[in-house]
Amino acid sequence: MPVAESVTLSDMPVSKVSEERVRQIVQSDPADRRLARPPAVSGDPGSAAATLAIMLQRADQGWIEVIAGPMFSGKSEELIRRITRYHIARVPTQTFKPTLDDRYADTEVVSHSRLSTAAEPVPDSKTLLGSVADRTVVVGIDEGQFFDQGLVRAATLLAGAGKRVIVAGLDLDYRGHPFGPMPELMLRAEYVTKSLAVCHRCGGPGLFTQRVVSSDELVVLGATGAYQARCRRCYNPSEIPQQELALEPAT
Ligand code: ADP
Ligand code: MG
Ligand code: ZN
Repeated sequence: MPVAESVTLSDMPVSKVSEERVRQIVQSDPADRRLARPPAVSGDPGSAAATLAIMLQRADQGWIEVIAGPMFSGKSEELIRRITRYHIARVPTQTFKPTLDDRYADTEVVSHSRLSTAAEPVPDSKTLLGSVADRTVVVGIDEGQFFDQGLVRAATLLAGAGKRVIVAGLDLDYRGHPFGPMPELMLRAEYVTKSLAVCHRCGGPGLFTQRVVSSDELVVLGATGAYQARCRRCYNPSEIPQQELALEPAT
């Protein structure tokens, strides 16, 4: 039965209607949700029916959420927490990570605190876009900074198609420079969460990622002891001499 037919608007308080509709929308198939979108309500803009019509349209809408910050700030934890909540609500999700990042497991996002969720490794934003199934409502992406700039377009297209896109990633590289597609994603997102770590040196608000080993590698991937979170005062990108290397992966 189409979702729209199962709801009676009359004589229901708005709050009750909303709760029931949100439950139905979250559990329904995305295709049903499009069908269930009610016609625009004419008449009193403050009426329960008008409120419900607006809410239904919004519930069907995609958006972009970004979780940005330095290493150890809990970005992956937060992504896993949000995705897990959708799993509990039985909302179809898919989570992706760049193939570059194979630190712990090929097919999982794993946080430093060992929380995890299933993830599909993809080499680039184009492959990611082509891998999102029609029925998927929520698209999680970890280590967004390692993707090419096309991730901005991919996230925008997905949000436009009604998906909720959640991207976690480093906003700054170890030199303190904007990192890959993350800054533009932050500008184009509806919701931005900036997470802070604990400064490894003084316990203050860790905003930066300090590389503490010298390396001529293009990318030193979270190797144990290679990075620390540092606050504004303790961060010093020239603490250990580095060759002038870009962290971004070759495209
Ligand atoms: P991120 O994805 O931002 O690198 P994770 O979500 O993988 O971070 O890990 C966050 C966890 O890392 C914290 O819950 C904590 O257990 C651990 N951790 C280790 N070092 C620090 C630190 N300096 N500041 C905050 N958390 C830290
Ligand atoms: Mg992480
Ligand atoms: Zn500090």
